[in-house]
Amino acid sequence: MFESLSDRLGSVFDRLTKQGALSEADVIAALREVRVALLEADVSLPVARDFIKRVQDKATGAAVTKSITPGQMVVKIVHDELIRVLEGDGPADALKIDNPPAAILMVGLQGSGKTTTTAKLAKRLKDRNNKRVLLASLDTNRPAAMEQLAILAGQIGVDSLPIVKGESAVQIARRAKTQAAMGGYDVLFLDTAGRLHIDEVLMDEVQAVRDIAQPRETLLVVDGLTGQDAVNVAAEFDGKVGISGVVLTRMDGDGRGGAALSMRAVTGKPIRFVGLGEKMDALETFEAGRVAGRILGMGDIVALVEKAQETFEAEQAERMAKRFAKGLFNMNDLKGQLEQMIKMGGMQGLMGMLPGMGKMAKQAEEAGFDDKMLRRQIALINSMTKKERANPDLLAASRKKRIAAGAGLEVSELNRLLKQHKQMAEMMKKMGKGGGMKQAIRQMM
Ligand code: GDP
Repeated sequence: MFESLSDRLGSVFDRLTKQGALSEADVIAALREVRVALLEADVSLPVARDFIKRVQDKATGAAVTKSITPGQMVVKIVHDELIRVLEGDGPADALKIDNPPAAILMVGLQGSGKTTTTAKLAKRLKDRNNKRVLLASLDTNRPAAMEQLAILAGQIGVDSLPIVKGESAVQIARRAKTQAAMGGYDVLFLDTAGRLHIDEVLMDEVQAVRDIAQPRETLLVVDGLTGQDAVNVAAEFDGKVGISGVVLTRMDGDGRGGAALSMRAVTGKPIRFVGLGEKMDALETFEAGRVAGRILGMGDIVALVEKAQETFEAEQAERMAKRFAKGLFNMNDLKGQLEQMIKMGGMQGLMGMLPGMGKMAKQAEEAGFDDKMLRRQIALINSMTKKERANPDLLAASRKKRIAAGAGLEVSELNRLLKQHKQMAEMMKKMGKGGGMKQAIRQMM
C-alpha cells in the first residue's frame, strides 16, 4: 500500500535530509512537493492544505538539537503530522463486543468487500478473542451473496443463520437476534445488502435493520482504491445511518492511499481495520503509527530524532535537578514548572506523578488551584524584572505593588505565589538530597 505516495515523499525527503543547512525557502519548496504528492494520492484538498500548513508552522518553531539536521527534523514533524491526520484525537477504541449477543452491522456498497470482511472479522474474534460468532446475510436481492457468506462461515468454522427464502431483511435481522440470544452467541454479524450506488431504498432498508438490530457497532466497508470516493461514501452513510467506524479494503494494492489520509479529517470516523488481501487472515487493525511509517518509509530518521529529543530532555532534566538540589530554584524555574503543569493537565495530573503528593494535589484542588490560577501566577512572574526573577528576595513592598499592578492582580495573590515558591524551593532541595529528583523532573517534561 501507498507505494507511489511513499516513493514521492521518499525522494523529497532524501534530498532534504542530505542538506546540512536549510533555508525557509528550501522547506517551503519541499512542502510544495509534498502537497502535490498528497493530492496525487487523492487526499482531499482541504486536508492536504491543512496538513502542509501545520507542518510549516511546526517546522518554523521547532527547536533543532545539535545532533540532528533540520531536514531530519522536518521528516519527524511530517511523520507526527501523518499520525495526527490518520487518527484524529487518538487511536480508535476496540470493538464493543461485551454484553452478548453484541450485534455488529456491516454496511457498504456492493463489491466493496463487505462479505469478505465480515468473515475476516468473525474469524478474528473467534481465534483471538475466543468469541462464539453467528453470521447472518440480509442480502435478499442476491441469493448468491447469502450463499457466499454461508460458505465462508463454513470455511472459518463459525455458524451462519439458516437461509429462509422469502424473508425480508428486517425479518432476517429479527430472527438472527433471537437465534443469537437463544444460542448463546457472543457476537452477531449482520451483513446488509449492498448496491452499486447509494440510493434511498438501500438507506431505508439499512435504517430499518439498524432499528431492529440495535447494533453496538456499525462498520462501513469501503474500497480503499477508490480514494476520495471512499470518503464521500463514508460521509453519506454516516449521515444517513450513522457509522461507528470504517474498514478500508484492498489496501494490499498499490492504491493511491488518499482515502486513509482523508477519512478521519473529513468524516470524523475512525478507520478500524484495513483489508490486505482475499485470504481470511488478510485483515489488520488500523494503527496510525505503522501506517505513517509505511507512507513515509523513514523509520530510521524518525527514531534518530526521537532519540535525540529524549537525550536533550534528559540532559535538561539533569541540569535542572542539579540546580534544584543546590537550592537554586528561582522564579524562572517556577515559571517553567507552572507552564509545564498547564501542559500536563493541571495540578492534579502533575502531582499524581510525583511520589507521595496525592494529598497535596487534593489540597491544592480544594484551594482552587486550577489552570486559571496557574496562568495568573505566570502573569505575575512575567511582570517581574529579570533581576527580581533571579532573586525574589528583592521584592519589597513597592516592588510588589508594581508587579501585582502590572499583572492586574492583588498583592495578596503575589504574596501567596512567593510563599508557594519558598515551599517548593525547600521541597526541591529535600528531594534533591534524597535522589529521585531527576526522575520526577523527567516525568514532568
Ligand atoms: P461485497 O459485495 O461488498 O460483499 O464484496 P465481497 O466481499 O464479495 O468482495 C468482492 C471481491 O473483493 C472478492 O473477490 C474479495 O475476495 C475481494 N476482496 C475483499 N477484500 C479484499 C482486500 O482487502 N484485498 C483484496 N485484494 N481483495 C479483497
